[in-house]
Amino acid sequence: MQTGVTRREFLAGVGAAALAGATQAAALPLSTDPLSEFDYGAVQLTGGPLKCQYDRIRAAYMALDNDRLLRVYRLRAGLPAPGAPMGGWYGRDGFVPGHSLGQYISGLARIGRATDDSTCVAKVGQLVEGFAATLGPNDLPFAAPNAERVWPCYILDKHLAGLMDAYNLSGVKHALELVPRVFRGALPYIPRLGHDRVGKKHPPYDETYVLPESLFSACELTGDRAFYDRALAYLLDRDYFDPLAAGQDVLPGRHAYSHVIALSSASKARLVLGDEKYLRAMKNGWALLESTQQYATGGWGPNETFIEPRKGQLFESLRTTADHFETPCGSYAAIKLARYLLCATGEARYGDGLERVLFNGTLAAKEPDSDGDYPYYSTYGAQAHKVFYPQKWPCCSGTLVEGVADYVKSIYFRAADGVAINLYAPSQLKWTERGTPVTLTQETEYPLGESVKLRIACTSPVEFALQLRIPGWAASTPQLRVNGNPVHADVRRGFAVVRRRWTGGDTLSFKLPQQFRTEAIDGLHPETVAILRGPLVYVERSPAASDAKHAPTEALQPAADTPGVFAAPTGALPRTYVPFYFVRDEAYTMYSQHG
Ligand SMILES: [Zn+2]
Repeated sequence: MQTGVTRREFLAGVGAAALAGATQAAALPLSTDPLSEFDYGAVQLTGGPLKCQYDRIRAAYMALDNDRLLRVYRLRAGLPAPGAPMGGWYGRDGFVPGHSLGQYISGLARIGRATDDSTCVAKVGQLVEGFAATLGPNDLPFAAPNAERVWPCYILDKHLAGLMDAYNLSGVKHALELVPRVFRGALPYIPRLGHDRVGKKHPPYDETYVLPESLFSACELTGDRAFYDRALAYLLDRDYFDPLAAGQDVLPGRHAYSHVIALSSASKARLVLGDEKYLRAMKNGWALLESTQQYATGGWGPNETFIEPRKGQLFESLRTTADHFETPCGSYAAIKLARYLLCATGEARYGDGLERVLFNGTLAAKEPDSDGDYPYYSTYGAQAHKVFYPQKWPCCSGTLVEGVADYVKSIYFRAADGVAINLYAPSQLKWTERGTPVTLTQETEYPLGESVKLRIACTSPVEFALQLRIPGWAASTPQLRVNGNPVHADVRRGFAVVRRRWTGGDTLSFKLPQQFRTEAIDGLHPETVAILRGPLVYVERSPAASDAKHAPTEALQPAADTPGVFAAPTGALPRTYVPFYFVRDEAYTMYSQHG
């Protein structure tokens, strides 16, 4: 709070010209925040399952045809519109025509920055220019009447974020000028004030939840006060953040994804307005997710709705629906929230949650096809399959590329005195410590393997601290070794801290032993469990219909040929358990009776 009132009063009292400078300062993390995010370009994935998915998603979205993506916008503008119709949600008569264009631009801009890929950057520029040419005299940013009617705020948010990412990450200069134009073009269609959508079954839905985050950012980028005022008008203080900050459980019955992504707006409001109530809302929201709403995967919201806690409703959901978690959107919202909480608190527990939903959510999502078929819901019931959403180009087609593009943001965090390592994944980080460029290379087979090795390269010795997240599931703090020699490390907020004067060629290594364990679906059904090992949920692959119980975890033995695969040689046929992210088209069972 120490800077909060000052900031708000300051912002209220300054003119538009001064606002740009003021809010750019406000965009920085609060000086007291223990961690902050690195830029997309600081981190490279170098191997392992995250890179594997990252590369496939990059290729899938690079292959999207620009003419097809722009077709609905060009038709509205009366321009020649070559290319086949997209169909599905995106098409001219679809649920929300053109809704995800901004998200595809965001995802490609982020990937282009992280991989320094000029073809990615060029595609971002082409999509921005193609879109700009359709805006017309009124700067109308909607592709068809359905887009104006159903989700105008939602689409405006995606446009703003896409244009800002294009400008900030791909250097598309024209995108900066388009930010205020699409906002003003949207004004006749968006509400003056934001309202929560509780119980609302028919359009317009408003969907202002995450829009304040983009509006505050647009104010910082352009200095235009109108963005700031509208962001304030859309913050769901009275309906949502205030009761959440006061410790009330306001989740049950609410739309799940909307209310988790809304906490990204709370995070931005905290940084801009300096009001710590938003941090309390974020923390309490996260705690409620973990303690009352969450499946073993870190997913939540059966049928997209938060359940009533302590009534056995997660258990009930296993047989009443196949729509257990809106995976790409929900994971994206949860991972963003976890990153913001990590930065604000420096507490590793948020990294534990991030890791859970990343490895068992986004990473485990079905791979999209090339023509609009996308994953949406994950199914946690017995004898399940990973399936596509029945309509092409759903919301999750937008968050899938954004979420995967953000993998590089979730691995390392900047601390005042060094770097915090949140995720164990083959990767490389480059940063400057006290004027000395440093490269940290992480080698690991995690999450399947247990060993992690960090290698430092620097031209001259430099002192800094490395913080290593000790996962909550780890049985004990591992023995850390520097250049092979055991070192003592204090554990602070769940991170083991090694501070020393590092020299080029130094290594830091440790093991995170992983054992199988089970987690009950909810408190009323302790016998219905999922099996986990380290951060991963394991499922039975191609289960027999007669398998009423899980194989006992003590019986699971590593398969000789494939890392990560375990078999239980019990009964007539051996039973196979694999990480959920291994599953492609085969049937699987996640929850079953204790073996
Ligand atoms: Zn979705």
